[in-house]
Amino acid sequence: MITKQTFLQFNQCPKYMWYEGQKSNKIIKRLDSNRLYPYVKKLFPESISVPNLPGQYYKMAQITKQYLNENHSIIYNPCFVKEDIFVQYDFMVVKNNTYHVYDVKASTKLSKRFLLELSFNKHIMEKQLKMPVKSYLIYVNKNYLRTGKIKAEKLLLIQPVDRDLINIKPSIVLKMRNTLLLDLPHIDIGLHCESSAEFIECPYKADCYKADENSIFELAGLHKSELYELFHNGIQQMHMIEDSRAYGKNQRIQIECLKRNIAIVDHKMIRDYLKIFKLPLYFLDFESFRDILPPFNRTSPYTEIPFQYSIHILNETLTQKGFLGKPGEDPRRALAEQLIHDIPENVQIIAYNMSYEKRVIKNLANLFVDLSKDLMIRHDHIYDLEVPFEKKWYYLNDMKGKYSIKNVLPALFPMDKNLDYNTLTIQNGLMAMTTYRDLNRNPDAVNKETLKDLWDYCSLDTLAMVKIYQKLKEDIR
Ligand code: SF4
Repeated sequence: MITKQTFLQFNQCPKYMWYEGQKSNKIIKRLDSNRLYPYVKKLFPESISVPNLPGQYYKMAQITKQYLNENHSIIYNPCFVKEDIFVQYDFMVVKNNTYHVYDVKASTKLSKRFLLELSFNKHIMEKQLKMPVKSYLIYVNKNYLRTGKIKAEKLLLIQPVDRDLINIKPSIVLKMRNTLLLDLPHIDIGLHCESSAEFIECPYKADCYKADENSIFELAGLHKSELYELFHNGIQQMHMIEDSRAYGKNQRIQIECLKRNIAIVDHKMIRDYLKIFKLPLYFLDFESFRDILPPFNRTSPYTEIPFQYSIHILNETLTQKGFLGKPGEDPRRALAEQLIHDIPENVQIIAYNMSYEKRVIKNLANLFVDLSKDLMIRHDHIYDLEVPFEKKWYYLNDMKGKYSIKNVLPALFPMDKNLDYNTLTIQNGLMAMTTYRDLNRNPDAVNKETLKDLWDYCSLDTLAMVKIYQKLKEDIR
């Protein structure tokens, strides 16, 4: 069945659509806008809803037709079929013999992809089914600040979009049908495989390209278009670059260290930088989450809400402190107060990529005026452990041109299982964020193991900083 998703895939790359067409047991995918529906339904009270019946396209279209014949004016999940083409909207309002069709998006901005979907559906509705439609997108107002209960009329934005839709060529459906019937199309990899305003990162990259060791796509810091240009000019691995002088400093270092199999440790620069670090050192890392529905008062859609921190304190011994919020409750005030308690004034605080830690503390200071002075004192005492790696004073080939803690740590300690994120249940910040967000949505699901998993992840972030700091000191001795 051809749908608006098929059209988006074809628009990105016919080969991508072909791969998707080979999958059996396809079901109708709903986007993650379910959490918005209770609020949408406050604005457009549901009169009736077409059930979602995976794979039963004709049945769903038949039910829609029946509801229209029964003069229902607001129909959720209306569906239409024309031959092998399936059109589905989130809901439809029938008014004065006009079909006002709406898609609901869990997003704070209108993307070109949303408009493309609606353009395709409008083309089928009007040109093939002869049903004139007026199209709308409903999305989230990022400036809405919650006070009390969430107000649907302030949370949601409704945008008529017919004027922004593009004309779909009538031949497009025929081209899509032919592509689906024929063998795998020959299309080379290129920028169309990557995520952009119009495209998503293609899930079939591994089928289309088997990367060699030290692939050119591992060259860090270049725009994807430059990498594809090199690739299509026959430079598929980094060592094939004859003259690295045409590139920036970071790429030159990555290419030359790889070709000559060398490392960089600039003793003087690292020593000068570390001179400012004085014990006791407070190694600090926050975790935060975001949610589309503002979960607490004084939050907006996707506000960054810190819920956890870990501090490793390096003095004569190594000790640890930390905070983990109670899912379902706003953690920010308690976190800010405990942070002030756990970190004395005038000690040095070490973060890795400090802009994030500084931003979290500054946002808390803006939120809690009475704590602002104490928080900003801590804010102003943060130092960044990332600098020696970002500046390439310390570089190993295993860092692959990058300097995030997730690249630096395994390169410095390749054999140390205690410093291996892969041994943890929660292995990165995104997993920590979604884990806590889900607990916050459903506090009844809180259990000791998950809280321990969160604790273990944040702890490793600060322990990793201590180890990196000690390794730097050791290597420049
Ligand atoms: S990886 Fe690129 S070429 Fe291959 S199917 Fe996806 S978009 Fe098309």
